Amino acid sequence: MYCYPPHPVRGHPCDNISGNYGTWQANAIQREVVVVGGGAAGLSAARTLIRNGVKNIALLEAQDYLGGRVKTHRQDGILTEDGAEWIHGGSANRLYGLARRMGVLSPRVPDSSYAWSAKTETGRNADPAGYDAAETLYEICERNSVLSQYSDFGYGKCYADKFSGEYRRNRGRRSERAAWLHFLEMWVNKDTGLDDWRDQSARDADHFTDWGLDQWDQWRAGYDALVAHLKKDIPAGTISMSSPVCKIFWDQGDKGQVLVVTQSGVSYLADHALITASVGHLKERQDSLFEPALPRAYRDALAVTELGLADKVQLGWRSSWWGEPHYNLNIIFTNDIQGEKSWLKGIMEFLTIHNQSNMLQAFVPGEYARKMEALPEETVKRHLLSFLADVTGKSIPEPSFFRRTQWQKNVWMRGSYNSYVTVEGGNTIMRSRQPLAQAVEKNGKPVLLWAGEHTHTTRYGTVDGAMDTGEREAYKIIDYMDATFG
Ligand SMILES: Cc1cc2nc3c(=O)[nH]c(=O)nc-3n(C[C@H](O)[C@H](O)[C@H](O)COP(=O)(O)OP(=O)(O)OC[C@H]3O[C@@H](n4cnc5c(N)ncnc54)[C@H](O)[C@@H]3O)c2cc1C
Repeated sequence: MYCYPPHPVRGHPCDNISGNYGTWQANAIQREVVVVGGGAAGLSAARTLIRNGVKNIALLEAQDYLGGRVKTHRQDGILTEDGAEWIHGGSANRLYGLARRMGVLSPRVPDSSYAWSAKTETGRNADPAGYDAAETLYEICERNSVLSQYSDFGYGKCYADKFSGEYRRNRGRRSERAAWLHFLEMWVNKDTGLDDWRDQSARDADHFTDWGLDQWDQWRAGYDALVAHLKKDIPAGTISMSSPVCKIFWDQGDKGQVLVVTQSGVSYLADHALITASVGHLKERQDSLFEPALPRAYRDALAVTELGLADKVQLGWRSSWWGEPHYNLNIIFTNDIQGEKSWLKGIMEFLTIHNQSNMLQAFVPGEYARKMEALPEETVKRHLLSFLADVTGKSIPEPSFFRRTQWQKNVWMRGSYNSYVTVEGGNTIMRSRQPLAQAVEKNGKPVLLWAGEHTHTTRYGTVDGAMDTGEREAYKIIDYMDATFG
């Protein structure tokens, strides 16, 4: 089980906060609401407040762009997504209708259009029966009726328990059994960001509402079209970028106001602070961020919630060397990989990037991603090229594009997806995620409110879920104002 903090907490930007309490309080700018974080949740919250007449607000974003884990990258005519990529669930997802209305919903590429192959790490053809077993189990273990039987255990137990039987039923090669089991775990971990598929509470996983159709619908010209859409109703003066919030005094004075201080010493006195930072950031920084410490119940909830990690590696060539517009190369490991290259064992497939037939992408989950993040960029690229050469038996040309993400290294994230509740947490205080959304009140007034994907009870780990939570908390403030001031 992986424990925080993932990196030494030395040298955090907030260690250099300028000013002191006296100057912060004396010079504070008055706002009704301060929103911390400009990802999907923060932008949705600010937009909802403004549309409902709460205009005296500030949105403070630590980084130099808006969107957080929605981050589109453009370079030399190539478009890649560092973060969110798909609108999961077809028309059940609110983003599907939005993208369609905006005229930017990309046509689907069905699974059947992909040139599919499965290879061992040394380039032999792998037994497709193993893939069939993995695919069947993925479908079975995702069913709520099945997952609910594992509530007290780790999410991966269903897969681990059922794999051997399913593999035998498919008459898979005995020599590849362990390799296909590893493949299945990497598949699950790629989608969950887990280090070990037993880490997440199956009860927590069971709460997730899965509409299927996971990797089909996309934004034609980048997911950041959503960021532009959410931003357009928010007056420019409301948003401050490159403004990390380093201190939140939430229990000072009898007016029940919150003093929010940024790294550069700009301070805000507000009636409500709505915090949307990732659970990775909150876990790492809560001790220095909040003054006084958060109430016990909230700290307990954070202690049993984690942020998983899945990174992307992306390679592009002027023309494809595989020759198919849609390519899906699955890989199993029949031997261990030792040393610096061991992170490659986290990869279970390469896929062409949507609408770019000369680009390949792979996900790297959990501990493998942390190893990859620690290596120099050029080394990661070299590893990938020699790996692809071994697996395909081809000579791989020098790529014209290479990019990898480092979500764990990002001090404002400390992970990517999914947020998850540990098995212990799921069996005790976090039988649902409600505690993470519980506002901290002073004299009946919600002074600290919590949004962000991790606070959603059923759609955590998604963009649509994050938006829901921002709106949910904005309405808590609006309802409070309506009840108090009429
Ligand atoms: C690689 C990857 C792939 C994904 N794929 C998909 C997908 O295909 N479909 C999907 O629906 N979802 C996907 N997700 C998940 C989705 O992107 C997130 O669930 C969602 O964007 C989270 O939004 P949020 O507003 O809750 O948090 P964030 O996007 O993390 O926003 C929080 C913001 O707060 C800022 N912040 C943090 N600390 C501070 C501070 N102290 N002061 C000021 N600002 C601060 C951060 O910089 C950030 O901008 C993916 C995520 C990743 C990383």
